Amino acid sequence: MRFFDYQKVYSLQDALEAVSVSKGISVFMAGGTDLLVQIKEGKIRPTCIIDVKGIHEMGGLATSGDELSVGALTSIRTLETSPSTLGKVPLLAQAAAKLGSVQVRHRATIGGNLCNASPSAETAPALLALDAKAVICGKKGIRVVELTDFFLGPGETALGSGEMLTHLKIPLARNRQGSVYYKLSTRKAMDLAFVGVAVLLELGRGDQISKARIALGAVAPTPIRVPSAEKRLEGTVLDLDSARESAELAAQSCRPISDLRASAEYRREMVRQLCEQGLLTAYRQAKYLTEGNNE
Ligand SMILES: Cc1cc2nc3c(=O)[nH]c(=O)nc-3n(C[C@H](O)[C@H](O)[C@H](O)COP(=O)(O)OP(=O)(O)OC[C@H]3O[C@@H](n4cnc5c(N)ncnc54)[C@H](O)[C@@H]3O)c2cc1C
Repeated sequence: MRFFDYQKVYSLQDALEAVSVSKGISVFMAGGTDLLVQIKEGKIRPTCIIDVKGIHEMGGLATSGDELSVGALTSIRTLETSPSTLGKVPLLAQAAAKLGSVQVRHRATIGGNLCNASPSAETAPALLALDAKAVICGKKGIRVVELTDFFLGPGETALGSGEMLTHLKIPLARNRQGSVYYKLSTRKAMDLAFVGVAVLLELGRGDQISKARIALGAVAPTPIRVPSAEKRLEGTVLDLDSARESAELAAQSCRPISDLRASAEYRREMVRQLCEQGLLTAYRQAKYLTEGNNE
């Protein structure tokens, strides 16, 4: 049995105050689905747990202008089932549905998934593809960080001491979009991804790709975007050759490791295959939307 202090807070201000006055190792706890496992395994030994799950201002979804704001304490299950995510950012809903089990998704939060900073964090590739920004709050004030700059390494983020992730800001699509998320894991359920691929394509005039996003999980020390593979597509009309070339660039850009889940070679090959498949699927989806709208 390990002993620690436990404090439950109900406002952001109280959470920041609690961490600033605490002595020893204090950690925030949202759903606890990563944290409690790490404590049990002895990976961290906090002296104080600050339970933030009851902070109302950090939960839920809200649309303001052309942006969706997602509170860091929003549960993964809400992201999976909410009409806001399903209608406005289906890529995020799709990724959320792949995390753990229904029970875990009810408890787990999007903030916890990102702040835990696992290379295989389920929601990270989708959020990177959606150009999400992280809103971070500390005693010194609020700052906004591009999600591409949020992950620094396994278990490491841009959060400073005593800072919290409070919200994510996701720009909403103005043009026709198609998107898809693929997860490969050793077991069908309750297992982390050994490859995660998120693809998002936005179409402009004449079915040209105006924006391409390809983001990968579990194949580098952090979730990553692949700008070279994206640039290959922007301003072009997708065909099999361009999809293959872009997928090849993505496969060459990742830095997978071999571990008990999969070998580095297999991961790289799966990135190639899933990116190609994802590009063709997302492109068809975006085109289908147009035809649907014109009817
Ligand atoms: C059985 C099981 C299956 C799982 N399957 C998957 C899976 O398939 N895919 C996957 O990606 N994950 C999986 N997970 C891991 C976990 O459920 C997710 O990462 C979850 O989203 C973590 O959220 P949480 O709210 O529980 O985080 P917590 O455990 O509460 O926190 C995680 C870390 O983030 C910090 N933190 C949390 N919120 C904030 C905040 N707002 N600001 C600053 N720091 C914060 C905490 O201090 C802690 O270090 C699984 C876990 C279990 C137990």
